[in-house]
Amino acid sequence: MDELLDVYQAAWNEQPEGTILYGSGDTRDSLAGLADRMLKAFLASDFARPQGIILGVEEELRGPVIPGCPDLLGRVDLIVEAEDALIVSDYKTSRTTWSFDKIEQSSPQLLLYGELVQAFSPLKPVRLQFAVLPKTKLPTVQVHEVECDPAAVARTKAVVQRVWNAIKAGPNFYPNPSPMNCPTCPFRGPCQRWSG
Ligand code: SF4
Repeated sequence: MDELLDVYQAAWNEQPEGTILYGSGDTRDSLAGLADRMLKAFLASDFARPQGIILGVEEELRGPVIPGCPDLLGRVDLIVEAEDALIVSDYKTSRTTWSFDKIEQSSPQLLLYGELVQAFSPLKPVRLQFAVLPKTKLPTVQVHEVECDPAAVARTKAVVQRVWNAIKAGPNFYPNPSPMNCPTCPFRGPCQRWSG
């Protein structure tokens, strides 16, 4: 725990004075308290001690998953080979715990990761899971399994294929504002200046 907090503090100390913009109600001290709680919760969870052989951490995988599309590039947080399955985990932090809808909306990412990792252990089934650590007063790691449903995989691939075909067809870009994406969008300036 001490080592993790030291790394956390060192990362803060590398930031030049005045370069950090805090969210409302946040301070450096309040965030340090949150980091303390979240790191403790992580260390207390099974995810700090994965059972099986760790095959990859932040593993960058690339492959031709969807016919006719460019290679898919994914950075997979954790790949573990357990006795009965290859387990692919994606870590998330979140303001709140995840709802069923949130899991469903996020699942395409894991479904595509599942396709990318097939070559790691072709004889074992793939298990997909999100490990969510909420930024709450008493955080605990919550595990949400995502079923490798062939119909959902096919649907996800079809969506990517449609998007790729639209990109290939020519300029087909327009603002599609959303409260979730715009605040962190790197193209926000040009997007707002775009006049049609
Ligand atoms: S700011 Fe970014 S996310 Fe929002 S509409 Fe423009 S391009 Fe899309």
